Amino acid sequence: MKRIAFLTSGGDSPGMNAAIRAVVRCGIAEGMEVYGVHRGYEGLLAGDFVRMYRSDVGDILHRGGTILKTARSRHFMEPGGAAKAIEVMGTLGIEGLVVMGGDGSMRGACTLVEAGFPVMFLPCTIDNDLAYTDYTIGFDTAVNTVLDAISKIRDTSSAHERVTIVEVMGRESGDIALYAGMAGGAEIVLTPERKPMLSYVYNKVLAGLNRGKLHSIIINAEGSGIASDALEADIESHTGKETRTVVLSYLQRGGSPSAQDRILATFCGAKAIELLKNGEKGCAIGQKDGKIFAMDLFEAAACTKEPDMSLYELIEVLSM
Ligand code: ATP
Repeated sequence: MKRIAFLTSGGDSPGMNAAIRAVVRCGIAEGMEVYGVHRGYEGLLAGDFVRMYRSDVGDILHRGGTILKTARSRHFMEPGGAAKAIEVMGTLGIEGLVVMGGDGSMRGACTLVEAGFPVMFLPCTIDNDLAYTDYTIGFDTAVNTVLDAISKIRDTSSAHERVTIVEVMGRESGDIALYAGMAGGAEIVLTPERKPMLSYVYNKVLAGLNRGKLHSIIINAEGSGIASDALEADIESHTGKETRTVVLSYLQRGGSPSAQDRILATFCGAKAIELLKNGEKGCAIGQKDGKIFAMDLFEAAACTKEPDMSLYELIEVLSM
């Protein structure tokens, strides 16, 4: 394989640039011509490619976001989208593609492989919602960002003897809430996988007050099904305790990637090049039990994840 391309797609995640650097430099080391595609699948359809050299990826390892820009592409999802993309790559002599993104981007990669084009997929999303891999690139940084916010919020929450609700990202996956809640010592964590009754929340706050607890931190994932403003009003009315909400929103997406995310991204990028060089047709790359591995893309896309209830139970015990 002599000429390959890569793109970043869906929501950006810290570590995408580290993965880009690894793909470009490992690809060139294998004698490949490497092309970056601007704005994800949208750029793939538009033929928005740029040849990349070693020096183009200098000084990006520590930067969040993606130097290639990312996008969501409706056109690519339309019938014939994958065929059009393959035609565009064909005219440029591109023989293989590396896709970096979340679950939607992985489904997009599947349509290209189905149509016969070799694609290696790298799990780049802060959500950690790809079941085939233990961790996704960007998750660790996002958890650390939330943790930093919780530590600051804890100071003021304690000073004012308040309840604070920290709303974090996670429409369908509660991993950011769960891991940051555990590391940040939150009293209650609400996630899409575990949606307790409102009465559970205010009763737990009340129980804490009765034990002499002066402040509480509640982590609410955006997909928990309980709106933070309703929760705030409910806690105030049932406990009489001043309650405030902090919505972290896009703050969680940005920032310099953690060492863990940079290392994961670098190993995954290098693995993608190795697999393309070996003539693999469609693989998802990830990390299982501390080791980098690759599996069939369609099998990876079909994986489902059970929530780890032991984490919820441990948070419950620690906050009693
Ligand atoms: P994140 O969840 O971290 O934001 P993502 O990769 O899941 O990232 P999406 O917006 O779901 O983000 O998907 C990115 C792009 O992948 C879409 O804009 C679309 O171009 C493509 N895509 C998603 N689903 C499909 C599908 N079923 N078939 C073809 N392409 C798809």
